[in-house]
Amino acid sequence: MNRTFLSVLAACSLLVACGTKNGPAAPKAVFIIVDGIAADVIESTPTPNLDNIAGIGGYARAYVGGEAGGESESPTVSAVGYNSLLTGTWANKHNVYDNDVDSPNYAYWDIFRIAKAHNPSLRTAIFSTWTDNRTKLLGDGLAEAGGSKLDYYADGYELDTARFPHDDAGEYIRMIDEVVVAEAAQHIRENGPDLSWVYLEHTDWIAHEVGDSSEQTLAVRGVDEQIGKIWAAINARQSAHDEDWLIVVTTDHGRDAETGKDHGGQSERERTTWIVTNSNRLNAHFDEIPGIVDILPSIATHLNISIPAPVQAQLDGQSFID
Ligand SMILES: [Zn+2]
Repeated sequence: MNRTFLSVLAACSLLVACGTKNGPAAPKAVFIIVDGIAADVIESTPTPNLDNIAGIGGYARAYVGGEAGGESESPTVSAVGYNSLLTGTWANKHNVYDNDVDSPNYAYWDIFRIAKAHNPSLRTAIFSTWTDNRTKLLGDGLAEAGGSKLDYYADGYELDTARFPHDDAGEYIRMIDEVVVAEAAQHIRENGPDLSWVYLEHTDWIAHEVGDSSEQTLAVRGVDEQIGKIWAAINARQSAHDEDWLIVVTTDHGRDAETGKDHGGQSERERTTWIVTNSNRLNAHFDEIPGIVDILPSIATHLNISIPAPVQAQLDGQSFID
């Protein structure tokens, strides 16, 4: 490779979208939720793959839980956090206050519904260790949730007790995460979906079991390796196709300060999360402790998706991408 080509390549990677004679690179986005990793834990654990991604874009401390003491205060509970990302709203709107997900308010559109409304030909996918993400939170296939929004899904594994016998130590969850990551990496590499969600659970399981500990550190290092597999698939995709990929990695809540085993309350450590992204279009808001509700408008910005005005008016977040 000669020097001129290398500098063009460098400029392309810096400027995000190097168009070709066929037009600008096709924007793509994947977001990953790794469950229950407190900000101080991710910061004190070696995570070379997240570091690589953040080196292109950035790392920020972030928050969940809505306005503490206010109308939008939301439990620092898993499904509550996922749905705040998916809908760009807090629990007082999306109405998911626990992991039962009994009556989500689908009037607050999720990001897949927004994407499909903008352009039904956009390809979508979910890769998930918890099936309720698709069937309940997204309500995929339900008329009141906007009908079918996912073109591909890889989940249901935790319901398959023959293939993944449940053990008290949660090893089966780690094995399922591995399968989910393999599915995500392969599907992204081969198909390049326009919008996809990867959900990984083992880090939360381990923390509930042992709290702040070397075992937790090992689990976080493990999930960093898994993120690296998805990041490699994205890079392979960008090498072979004229595509402009956004990756956003975050967590759904922190943990209690005393043991690191619990979460759900409004303490600072439970509310404090983090976001890693490769976007080099980050605006000042990224450095102002963004909320998990800011991820939806940020992804929409990257994908050039226009959000219907009534849905936009409901959002609690703002884009951290210009
Ligand atoms: Zn969680």
